[in-house]
Amino acid sequence: MGDSNCLFCRIASRQVKADIVGEEEGLLAFKDSHPQAPTHLLVIPTEHFPTLADVTPAQTQLLGSAIQFANRLARQYQLSESGYRVVFNCGSGAGQSVFHLHLHLLGGRPMRWPPG
Ligand code: AMP
Ligand code: ZN
Repeated sequence: MGDSNCLFCRIASRQVKADIVGEEEGLLAFKDSHPQAPTHLLVIPTEHFPTLADVTPAQTQLLGSAIQFANRLARQYQLSESGYRVVFNCGSGAGQSVFHLHLHLLGGRPMRWPPG
């Protein structure tokens, strides 16, 4: 069951519009509305988990699938050669602002390290 107060649950249930770019069993990918790179996609589990810290051993397969999904999207968006960054912000101190687990896929420009 989705959380009606959660923006990404509402996107997953199509109650809130997003620019959806892909979907597969238990996962949804859509464009970030405030892109930080020429390609900035989000991959979310359709089920609600607040943060990466809430992932249990039972969910590790789903997380692995999210990474495979991100890799496929990276190929689709021609990021394989130039490189891309996959980020999970976990907790507000790390920059998490939406408390529904999501993976950022960023690419299309040079990336600096360490991130700010
Ligand atoms: P984080 O700061 O890691 O929690 O990332 C949340 C991301 O969600 C940010 O990059 C936002 O730009 C993005 N975002 C917020 N609202 C929406 C929305 N309605 N559709 C797409 N992306 C969104
Ligand atoms: Zn949610």
